[in-house]
Amino acid sequence: MPIKSRIRTIPDYPKKGIMFRDITTLLKDPVGFRLVIDQMTQHYLEHGMDFDVIVGMEARGFIIGGALSYTLGKGFVPIRKPGKLPGDVVGQEYQLEYGTDKVEMHTDAVVQGSRVLLVDDLLATGGTALAGAAHVEKVGGIISEMAFIVNLPDIGGQKKIESKGYNVFCLAEFE
Ligand code: IMP
Repeated sequence: MPIKSRIRTIPDYPKKGIMFRDITTLLKDPVGFRLVIDQMTQHYLEHGMDFDVIVGMEARGFIIGGALSYTLGKGFVPIRKPGKLPGDVVGQEYQLEYGTDKVEMHTDAVVQGSRVLLVDDLLATGGTALAGAAHVEKVGGIISEMAFIVNLPDIGGQKKIESKGYNVFCLAEFE
């Protein structure tokens, strides 16, 4: 698995007992980064692009989302940590694998009725992606699919997200 083998695992980060999947080793490898973007691009070119815009979660979702916006010819919208966006925002706290967090999106970033591909680097509990989806839906957008480099299926995020009717696409899995 060329993508999976380029991801480093750091035990006990950020807390004892957590196996942190570190994608920085994948991204710093020019072949690795290209594989990620090429495989995602190919997936959407082959399966159809049922979306108008790509929404990325801060911060690692920006790296994939930005490159994918370029290859697929779609606009990019950031969902950011609080206090970073200058215009009117929608925002919400959400539950993380290791605590709580809050993110914000410009209220006018996604046009009512437009379809969205939501992207992030990794899917664990699904809390981050569901918070992103809630922001998009609050302003009238529709989630077409959620895409990640890595899925951690044992944590249950994919099941949770799919049980709410969302589509999930991932390139690699770790137990
Ligand atoms: P979730 O909200 O529990 O699905 O966690 C996913 C979010 O936390 C993503 O934004 C990831 O960047 C981050 N995250 C959680 N676990 C890991 C990990 O093992 N490696 C890298 N990022 C992680």
